[in-house]
Amino acid sequence: MLNKITDHVYQLQVPIPYDLGEVKCYIVEGENGYTIVDTGDNIEDAITLWKQVLPKDKKIEKVVLTHAHLDHIGLARWFQKNYNAAIWMSKAGYEEKKKIQSMFKGKKYNSPLSVLFRVNGGPEHPEEDEVHHRFDAYEFEPDYVFEEGEIIQIGDYNFETIWTPGHSPDHFSFYNHSHQILFVGDHILNSLNPIVMAQHMDENPLQLYLHALDKVQQYSTKYVLPGHGDLITNLSSRIEVMKSHYKKRWMQIHNALKEDGRTAFQISQSIYGTELPIERKMSAFLQTITNLIYLLSIDEIVMKKQKDFIYFYPKTSR
Ligand SMILES: [Zn+2]
Repeated sequence: MLNKITDHVYQLQVPIPYDLGEVKCYIVEGENGYTIVDTGDNIEDAITLWKQVLPKDKKIEKVVLTHAHLDHIGLARWFQKNYNAAIWMSKAGYEEKKKIQSMFKGKKYNSPLSVLFRVNGGPEHPEEDEVHHRFDAYEFEPDYVFEEGEIIQIGDYNFETIWTPGHSPDHFSFYNHSHQILFVGDHILNSLNPIVMAQHMDENPLQLYLHALDKVQQYSTKYVLPGHGDLITNLSSRIEVMKSHYKKRWMQIHNALKEDGRTAFQISQSIYGTELPIERKMSAFLQTITNLIYLLSIDEIVMKKQKDFIYFYPKTSR
């Protein structure tokens, strides 16, 4: 479960109760104690594992976060409380955290996705009851807030902060030039494309994401350390594969469009089929919306609003 990556850098596989089953967190040894990169979710199994792994005699200097999703940020508060660790997060992450907290009114989570699902012809957005109890993980204040292009210390190494939005608007990667280490969070994964999803029709996260892929592709890397799955051995070729995956999706979308208009949900069903289990169906639907917004922004398709629904059309006047 604890995997040595290089001198002073260790990887810990922490269980999560959904999707990928595990999140990869990192422990970096330094003069002033350990720095933890991402924490895992706020669940008992993860806490038990951290307690087993962390030596009693060494200080946890700080926790550095790639983004504000629960599987990465979930135990930051626990580290702050129990180990007196300083929490370092990006300014964008801090804003995102406050936004997520504000979506809770009483015990109810008011997801912006309900509106997005409705106008795009989808089914009701499912209630997310099971995650409610874990959201108090967001109740902390960071000790330091960084921005893009800063040099921060992780262990005894200097890392450049790189804004890599798309998977989430606040996502950051961290790069060390001398050892060519890149903490890449969920920006790039080894065996699947991370979910990039819009929450509103006026966002274009895929455009930001593709730009952020180009941004990290220019770095020389020896160790690319992701938030889930296996290490990435060849960053540039992995990015090329991910980009070609998008090109394939865009082709499928073009093929699914009809002259009389289709909703995003209809397009998603014609690409992914109608038999997917509910969770995968929803994520396929969301990714279709995200791709449609992107194709619209580069003027490859047409969108019209009719009554309460949004319809997409092929661009006929070529
Ligand atoms: Zn994740």
